[in-house]
Amino acid sequence: MVEKVRKIWMDGKLVDWEAAQVHVLTHTLHYGMGVFEGIRCYRTEDGQSAVFRLKEHVDRLFDSAHIVQMTLPSTREDVASAVLETLRANDMREGYIRPLAFIGEGAMGLYATDNPVHLTIVAWPWGTYLGEEGLRNGIRAKISSFTRHHVNVAMTKAKVCGYYVNSIMAKREAMAEGYDEAIMLDADGFVAEASGENLFMVRDGGLFTPPLTSVLPGITRHAIMRIARDKGIPLEERRFSRDELYTADEAFLTGTAAEVTPIREVDRRRVGEGTRGPVTHLLQDAFFNIVKGKDAKYEEWLTRF
Ligand SMILES: *Cc1c(COP(=O)(O)O)cnc(C)c1O
Repeated sequence: MVEKVRKIWMDGKLVDWEAAQVHVLTHTLHYGMGVFEGIRCYRTEDGQSAVFRLKEHVDRLFDSAHIVQMTLPSTREDVASAVLETLRANDMREGYIRPLAFIGEGAMGLYATDNPVHLTIVAWPWGTYLGEEGLRNGIRAKISSFTRHHVNVAMTKAKVCGYYVNSIMAKREAMAEGYDEAIMLDADGFVAEASGENLFMVRDGGLFTPPLTSVLPGITRHAIMRIARDKGIPLEERRFSRDELYTADEAFLTGTAAEVTPIREVDRRRVGEGTRGPVTHLLQDAFFNIVKGKDAKYEEWLTRF
């Protein structure tokens, strides 16, 4: 359950938790046309805090809105400062931040271009998404019977509310069968990503991740690619099939919520040694050092507050 916080940012001002309500005729509630972000802030070594890649998250929120032709009621600068304002108002030093833009009341037809667009920002404490044990030893994943959106069914570069019905179906199916996470194939049958995370595999010391064709351009994905390059780990964006994943030396997921989570098993087949592999461990450690402000080289990724 989301832990109750004091203040929620709604359309330009901070309101009490109880006051952050919407009407049942909220257009997005019916049809899913809305865009959102997931951002994390971490406690840093100096006892302060930092938001990880705030600018990139705000930019992606605006890109998502642009893709689905929603005009957001704020500027990028205002959204970025509202994120910090929300964290401060709740005295939150570490946690998850959820900006959400949605279409409000008015017309109820699909062509409701004059309804107001609302923007809210909620921040709440959120620990590891796939568990501490998952971060340490890896999770068990299932190739989903649900296909990741075809690029001409849903524009996969946007984080659009309605798209997540597909992800939720996949996640529920995987959980019901005793797995931790679902891996979705693209419409051609190649590995795409997990229900809310990008995916990497390691083979012969090199790192592979599917190209952006039908996956969300993850900011954590981008960070891991940059870290890998900086560490001299060969990296290639290319398609691969589920059997390549079964026989990979290592595999892991990346996402703001899931951070860097190793995959120890796919479809009851052990991946590599069946635990967190050395390359995954190296990248995971580098990632956590960076977000916690311990690596000056990546200071540009942090908005300290
Ligand atoms: C948000 C999301 C990710 C991860 O993106 P990050 O920017 O790393 O948080 C990956 N896949 C999907 C489908 C997502 O919604």
